[in-house]
Amino acid sequence: MLRLLRDLMKGSGSSQARLDQVVDLIAQDIVAEVCSIYLLRSGDVLELFATKGLKPAAVHKTRMRINQGLVGLIAAQARSVALADAQSHPNFAYFPETGEEVYQSLMGVPIMRGGRVLGVLVVQNRIQRNYTEEEVEALETVAMVLAEMLTGDRLLDASAGTSGTPGGDMPARLSGIVLNEGIAIGTAVPHQRGIVITQVVAEDPEAELVRLDGALGEMRDALDIMFARSEVARAGEHREVLETYRMFADDRGWLRRMHDAVHGGLTAEAAVQKIQNETRARMIAIKDPYLRARLADLDDLGNRLLHHLLGLEAKREENLPQDMVLIASDLGPAELLDYDQSRLRAVVLEHSAPTSHVAIVARALQIPMIGRCPGIGTEAREGDRVIVDGETGQVLLRPSGAVLAGFAESIVAKERQRQAFRAVRGLPSVSRDGAAVSLLINAGLMIDLPHLQDGGVEGIGLYRTEVPFMIRDSFPDVSTQTEIYSRILDAAAGKPVVFRTLDVGGDKVLPYWRGDGEANPAMGWRAIRIGLDRPALLRRQLRALLHAAAGRSLSVMFPMVSDVAEFEAAKALLQREIERERAFGDRLPAEIRVGAMLEVPALALQLTQLLPRCDFVSLGTNDLVQFLFAADRGNPRLARRYDVLSPAVLTFIHRIASQAAEQGVPLTACGEMAGHPLEAMALIGCGLRRLSMAPQAVDQVKTMLRGLDVASLQGFINQLLTLPDHSIREQLRSYASDHDVTI
Ligand code: PEP
Ligand code: MG
Repeated sequence: MLRLLRDLMKGSGSSQARLDQVVDLIAQDIVAEVCSIYLLRSGDVLELFATKGLKPAAVHKTRMRINQGLVGLIAAQARSVALADAQSHPNFAYFPETGEEVYQSLMGVPIMRGGRVLGVLVVQNRIQRNYTEEEVEALETVAMVLAEMLTGDRLLDASAGTSGTPGGDMPARLSGIVLNEGIAIGTAVPHQRGIVITQVVAEDPEAELVRLDGALGEMRDALDIMFARSEVARAGEHREVLETYRMFADDRGWLRRMHDAVHGGLTAEAAVQKIQNETRARMIAIKDPYLRARLADLDDLGNRLLHHLLGLEAKREENLPQDMVLIASDLGPAELLDYDQSRLRAVVLEHSAPTSHVAIVARALQIPMIGRCPGIGTEAREGDRVIVDGETGQVLLRPSGAVLAGFAESIVAKERQRQAFRAVRGLPSVSRDGAAVSLLINAGLMIDLPHLQDGGVEGIGLYRTEVPFMIRDSFPDVSTQTEIYSRILDAAAGKPVVFRTLDVGGDKVLPYWRGDGEANPAMGWRAIRIGLDRPALLRRQLRALLHAAAGRSLSVMFPMVSDVAEFEAAKALLQREIERERAFGDRLPAEIRVGAMLEVPALALQLTQLLPRCDFVSLGTNDLVQFLFAADRGNPRLARRYDVLSPAVLTFIHRIASQAAEQGVPLTACGEMAGHPLEAMALIGCGLRRLSMAPQAVDQVKTMLRGLDVASLQGFINQLLTLPDHSIREQLRSYASDHDVTI
């Protein structure tokens, strides 16, 4: 049948006449009384374009919205449906003009191309028929061939599939979430350009299998060579990200499905694309960010394989602009590495989450990246000028000359400023009036560690141990964890490192640790709560930390501690591990310091009891502020609603700092607040003398500090704390500018 279909494709006659022949042919072959083709028209409307079996008068009359009826459902979900009793399905909708009431069973498949639904192909039978999986597969294969036939055909010209470029030449502004910060200007390059499949039906299935296997072999070799060459692949944990990806290339299920599609009569490239369509359809339906990211890896491999099959591999780099802004639906990590990094200015993705592998690689490469940017795939055209604003999450397409000039200026100014801030690297971290403030960095990836060498960085104030857990596919065992922690201590070369025990749950997703759909995960079962309820997990981590720090100094910090009893319980687990090590005669750390993160407000009311029991405390202002204001830290709607520079927050912090100072317990601030110069200034004014921040922020905060008179600032802030204002940001800003403090 595929051959006949192909011949029809090549034949003469009007498009409508050919579609009519197609439905006839399919109905006969599948032995169905009805075969119909619905195509998507602009405005998300599906229209009956051809039918064998339904009333001819319904053609071009019967229309439904996406999601309306079973046909609408198939289009909305991009998923096949096979029902012996269609009328009892909750989505069944009856269109009287079709006369379809007599047909009981229905099988429908989406007609897809390049991940986009073009329409729906449906067969119906009078009796209750249980369509087999093979029959669904066969109909999907037919739909593949049909998609090729429809593309470029005049029939589709009137429909949504090729309705022209939405934005024309007008500027457009889209927004997404920031996956990696930074501002860039460049030329849009759609990923995956140039993949056009012309041969869908196989002449010789055996030869196609040989081609497929040959391309798979070539792809694996090319991946191995690329990973061996890549700097990022060699850098610590990124290697694991890439190894996981490489493993997919040998995934049995994926390989089998492609082979099956070739056996079904498709060429190797059409088979790859068929499986890719299915993968993309699953991506639309899946909410779980981890699974989505893995499907994106598979999609990426599919593209790579198509390049090998179509001989496009060699042409990839040709004609790419020197200032590429890469636009894609989603990307796998290796696919990003594949582009010449010296040409890459930024990446914008329609999907992708902060935990995706590609986001981790972008951070390592320091390429600005925006994800979850709906519409970018259709709005951006190859060659468009694009501004990627990785501070606000905005993408500006085809901006006016004035806007471009504005951004270009701010990029130059930022770079100049960055260079100026670097000038303080060799200078002491003290204020104008001699107050010393320790500046530390927050870390989580191996790539953060070289910053320990930046002049003035005293150590790691917060090492988020969950980060290496997040990029693996299973829990690292004790020896793997020991290795990671040892490498960090080695890199720190005697500088202090505060290891925070696992803080998972909330916004920190582990691929192999499914939350059970809590309504309020940030306030749910997370961090130390999990550690105390699953002590084996926490003890294994503590054991690894003790091993890694044998003979050296170890600082352990527990996250999300809500009261003193919880802190004591966590400390007791650490004590048991210490005793276990002793019993085994293992060498212990030379010094062990234990601290609590103060990010749950209740703990602040127990400081009198807490402080004598701990060696240090760290203010996690990200969580602390979200709980103080009862405002979700990840909700963009609330992002600007409350200000951390408010009398309430600063009064709270001021009291904590005074108490810690009285009792002589070191207090560090390690939330985002500490890395913004104005906020850092306020923290110092409240009494903080230790700040831990993103490595990139250190120079700027030090520049601010060196211009500051701490005694005068403290007096000023004390007055501000009594104000009834919503925010005291402006007063602090004026103070800075009046006193020549660089913020
Ligand atoms: C915080 O809550 O401020 C903090 C530093 O921890 P995290 O951002 O990892 O929750
Ligand atoms: Mg926190």
